[in-house]
Amino acid sequence: MSVRTRVAPSPTGDPHVGTAYVALFNLVFARSYGGQFILRVEDTDRQRSSSASEAAIMEALRWVGLGWDEGPDVGGTFGPYRQSERLDIYRHHADELVASGGAFRCFCTGERLEELRRRQRAGRETPRYDGHCRNLDPQESRDRAQAGETHVVRLDVPVTGTCGFSDGIRGTIEIPWQQVDMQVLVKSDGFPTYHLAAVVDDHLMGITHILRGEEWLSSMPKHRLIYDRFGWSVPDHYHLPLLRNADGSKVSKRRNPTGLNYFRRTGYLPEALRNYLALMGWSMPDEREIFSTEEMTAAFDIERLTTGGPVFDLAKLDWLNGQYIRSLDPGEFMDRVADWAINRENLAALAPLVQQRTERLVDLLPQVDYLLGDRATVDEDDFAPLRLGAEDCLRVLDHVGRRFDATDPWDRDSLQAAIRSLADAMGLPMRDFLAPLFVAITGRTVALPLFDSMAYLGRDMVRSRLASAIAALGGVSKKKAKRLERAYSGLIDQA
Ligand code: GLU
Repeated sequence: MSVRTRVAPSPTGDPHVGTAYVALFNLVFARSYGGQFILRVEDTDRQRSSSASEAAIMEALRWVGLGWDEGPDVGGTFGPYRQSERLDIYRHHADELVASGGAFRCFCTGERLEELRRRQRAGRETPRYDGHCRNLDPQESRDRAQAGETHVVRLDVPVTGTCGFSDGIRGTIEIPWQQVDMQVLVKSDGFPTYHLAAVVDDHLMGITHILRGEEWLSSMPKHRLIYDRFGWSVPDHYHLPLLRNADGSKVSKRRNPTGLNYFRRTGYLPEALRNYLALMGWSMPDEREIFSTEEMTAAFDIERLTTGGPVFDLAKLDWLNGQYIRSLDPGEFMDRVADWAINRENLAALAPLVQQRTERLVDLLPQVDYLLGDRATVDEDDFAPLRLGAEDCLRVLDHVGRRFDATDPWDRDSLQAAIRSLADAMGLPMRDFLAPLFVAITGRTVALPLFDSMAYLGRDMVRSRLASAIAALGGVSKKKAKRLERAYSGLIDQA
């Protein structure tokens, strides 16, 4: 049987470095056995999925050099590869599970579930469905569904005993069924949840090995049950360690650059990034640190994966990238530079901003250096002349970051609208509000128009500049981050 692996991103945001990390190991694993690597789009969350995000993720993965053999854009014999196009398949499988007693319809109202959660929390129990609809008479359940009563489908989970399963990296793991919720498999809108869709697809797409982030380890009992109930064999699972900061916390977009477009825009070479990601939890048999993806594939042995949280260390990545840049031959170096920023496509976005402000071509560079390159480093003194004090500047930048996470599409007009409504909600005059943002983004007192600048830079670059400006203003502790988050949610609720 041919080895088949997959990466299964949910198109709910910007391309993330974690997706490239998981994709790399799946690709290399499949290639090392002469197998296939598949891209599947998990877009069953209708509110949060977008085709723009899907396109951006595919484009970014291709840029990293992690192309796929089968996927929504290239086709393949196991398609469709987009879950929203497979709804009939999930419906059919859910019906089958209900008919065989592996799952049941649940008619509980939102209020009942809320009340249940409240009671469980008060009694210090883990919130969990109590099985209320589990023993409904099958005929009654069918009739109520046929009469159009709103319901979900839940997995029938044993209430006693333990679930044992094996993970290729961690060995045998046991989780008491008590800790496993009766997972919703089909939502009331008829869409499947991740758990049903992923298992059904992994089976039907002939996936033999699943390498995915360790955050999915706790879902294994549910997935095991679904495989068993269908009588399917379980693919081999390997849960890859999460990327961490030096202090052991999980990498997060608010603290570190995690967007693939950040790495692309700041001039990391895709082969250096792949090499770096390969070092996250894996090592070459001879422990050498610089190697190509082909060399990794030739030497690949999954046994060399470790469980320890690898530290995603930007300084190390910079060092590695420097090694790659310096080893390019001069012609290749020039091609890379042209590819990176100084090209017609980039200039097309900048020309309307700068042409009317230019007398000699040489005037161009100082106008765009903070857009093509990095902005100057900012420190607390840069914010001192502003009308808002340091604490308020920090609050503004924090809230702008949160607001920008949800700003879509990323263009001048939406950015402007987002900022205007946030300034209103915070009760700050637009001028005072914009001043710290201007410093954070441009690092100057005079620059091209702010909204055009941010539209050009893109979300990842803007986020990283906000983060470094917040750090310059003293940074935020975990406690303070929580406070800011609460304050921000309060504002949004009022708006
Ligand atoms: N859609 C899931 C994610 O975004 C995939 C998890 C898996 O690989 O099973 O992480």
